Amino acid sequence: MVHLHAADAVATIPVTTALEDDARWSAMIDRDTSDIDPFVIAVATTGIYCRVGCPARRPLRKNVRFYDTVEDAQAAGYRACKRCHPDESSELHAR
Ligand SMILES: [Zn+2]
Repeated sequence: MVHLHAADAVATIPVTTALEDDARWSAMIDRDTSDIDPFVIAVATTGIYCRVGCPARRPLRKNVRFYDTVEDAQAAGYRACKRCHPDESSELHAR
């Protein structure tokens, strides 16, 4: 009887991305980006992206996407938040 080790071929989860998102989520909750590169917070349910520290209600994590720059978020179809104006923050634009 032949045994194929199919379980060995199971796709691996991209761990590095998950860890980076964890750091960004923590920075967003703490409103502290002093030890992390700038990023924007996009909310899939609203189509809006924000900067850290936005006064808008905190979204559910499952609806949040993180992007490095305003350009990345806009390319994904998101619009700038009218409360925190992430598009007016120079550090959030592509460098
Ligand atoms: Zn905002």
